[in-house]
Amino acid sequence: MSARPLRPSDVEAWDAEADVVVVGHGIAGGAAAIEAAGAGAEVVVLERMTRGGGSTALSTGIIYFGGGTAVQRACGFPDSVEDMKAYVAMAAGAGADPERVELYCEGSLEHFEWFRGLGVEYEESFLDDKVTHPLTTHCLTFSGNEECWPFSEQVRPVPRGHKPQREGEAGGYLMEAVLAGTERAGASVVNECRVDRLVQAEDGRVVGVVGRRDRAPFAARARCGVVLTTGGFVMDREMLARHAPQLLACNYPVATDTDDGSGIRMGMAAGGEAVNMGEGLVLNAYYPPSSHLRGVFVDGRGQRFVNEDAYLGRTSAAILERADGRAFLVLEDAMHGRTQAFHKVAAVEESFEALGEALGMPPGALPVTMERYNRWAARGQDPLFQKHPKYLQPLVEPPFGALDCTTDGSIFGVFTLGGLSVTAHGEVLDPDGTPVPGLFAAGRCTAGLPREGRTYASGLSLGDASFFGRLAGRRAAAGPATG
Ligand SMILES: Cc1cc2nc3c(=O)[nH]c(=O)nc-3n(C[C@H](O)[C@H](O)[C@H](O)COP(=O)(O)OP(=O)(O)OC[C@H]3O[C@@H](n4cnc5c(N)ncnc54)[C@H](O)[C@@H]3O)c2cc1C
Repeated sequence: MSARPLRPSDVEAWDAEADVVVVGHGIAGGAAAIEAAGAGAEVVVLERMTRGGGSTALSTGIIYFGGGTAVQRACGFPDSVEDMKAYVAMAAGAGADPERVELYCEGSLEHFEWFRGLGVEYEESFLDDKVTHPLTTHCLTFSGNEECWPFSEQVRPVPRGHKPQREGEAGGYLMEAVLAGTERAGASVVNECRVDRLVQAEDGRVVGVVGRRDRAPFAARARCGVVLTTGGFVMDREMLARHAPQLLACNYPVATDTDDGSGIRMGMAAGGEAVNMGEGLVLNAYYPPSSHLRGVFVDGRGQRFVNEDAYLGRTSAAILERADGRAFLVLEDAMHGRTQAFHKVAAVEESFEALGEALGMPPGALPVTMERYNRWAARGQDPLFQKHPKYLQPLVEPPFGALDCTTDGSIFGVFTLGGLSVTAHGEVLDPDGTPVPGLFAAGRCTAGLPREGRTYASGLSLGDASFFGRLAGRRAAAGPATG
C-alpha cells in the first residue's frame, strides 16, 4: 500500500479529532501520550493491534539510567551525570547527537523517578554476573561495554542497566505500567486501528492520519500534531534489502510483526528524511554462562578478531563484519555450558590441530593462535584485544570444543536502529534539516540516541524511546493549533 499522504479534501469525514494524535502504543507512544495529556492536550492514541505493547512488551525491560539513581547508591556504585555523559556518548556510537546525549543524561534521574511514579518497582540489588537477559528480580547490571576495552580505558565503569523487579522478561510488566499511565493521563486509545497514511495540507503541515479500523476506513484529525511511534523495520525484508542488506544474514528478528517500517515510510512520504538506516543491533548470545567468556573466538581462518568479554552487540557485529559471519568459540570441556540461544557444538577434538582441521581452517592456523593466546593468558594479559584479566585462562585441558557461532548455524538476533531524522524534541526533519510542520516521531521509527550496534548497551533503546517519546509528546502538545 502506498504511504503517500492524502490532502484534507480527500478525507470524507473525521472519525476522531484531538490536539495530538499518537500512532502506535508501545513505550514511545505511551510516553508521548502521557506527557502530551499532562501538558493539557486532548490526545488520541491509535494502535493497530488488539492492545498496545509492541516490541516493548516482549523485551527484558532494561532501561539505561544513571547519574546516581537510588539503586546505584544503595548498591555502592556512585555515578555522576558527567561520567554517564562520557559513557553514553561512546555507547550511542560515532553518529551520536551531543544534544540528545546531554538531555538524556541530565534528565536520567528524573526519568527514573517518572517510571517509579507510574508504579514500576525496582529492587535495590546488583547482579554480579555477565548476562544478557537477567531472569532474576535483580535490578542493576553492567548492561553494555562499561568494563570492556576500549571503553573501560576512557570512563570509570559503572553499571547503569536497570531491570524492573520481576522474574523473567520484565518488558510486559513495564508496558502494563505505561498502558495504565496512558489511561490515567486521560488519553483515549483506539485499538485495532492501523494507520496507513498521513494527511498533509497544501502548505506541508501534517493535520491528521487515515487508516483502517474493523475493515472500515478511519480518519483522525490532529489540531496540533501527529506523533509517529510505530517501531522499526526489521520485519520488512524489502526495506532491509534496500537499506541494511548486511542484516539479512541475521536469522532471528527481535521484534513484533508490526516492526514493518510503516511509520518510517509515512514520514518519508510526507517529506521526512530517514537516516542511519544501515545500522542495527545484532545479537548472538554465546553467553551466559559467563564461563564462555574464558573461551576464544576465532574466525574461519583460525584468527582472533574481538575481545570475547565485550557486550553481545559488539562481538556479534564483529562476527558479521570482521569474521564474515563465520566464527567459532573454542572452549575447554569444563568451560562449556548451555547458552540461552542453544548453540550447537561444531566439533570436539583432543588437539587444536585436529580441531582446526575439523572446522576446515588452514593447517596449523588454530594451534598458532591458541599457543599465543595461552602464553599471554598465563601472564594475565591479552595484548591483542585487552580482554579483562578475570576472563583470561589458558586452554590446556583436552578435549577442546568449538561452539558454532556462524550466521548459518546459530541464532542471530537483530533489530534496526535507523529511522526518521528528528530533533531531540521529536520534530521530523526533511533533507534540508527543516521540520515537517505538525509531524513528530520517537522510538525505533527514528534514528534516536543509539546509532551503532557495536557500541550499544542494553537499556538504551527503551531508554531512548521513553525519554524522547516524552519530549516529542510535550513538543507536539505545544504545537500551534490549526483550525
Ligand atoms: C526480546 C526482546 C528483548 C529486548 N530487550 C530490551 C531491553 O531489555 N532494553 C532495551 O532497551 N531494549 C530492548 N529491546 C528492544 C526494545 O524492546 C525496542 O527497541 C523498543 O520496545 C521499541 O519501542 P517503540 O515504542 O519504538 O516500539 P514498539 O514497542 O514496538 O511499539 C510500536 C507500536 O506501534 C504499533 N504500530 C506499528 N505500526 C502501526 C501503524 N501503522 N498503525 C498503528 N499502530 C502501529 C505496534 O503495534 C506497537 O504497539 C528488546 C526487544 C526484544 C524483542
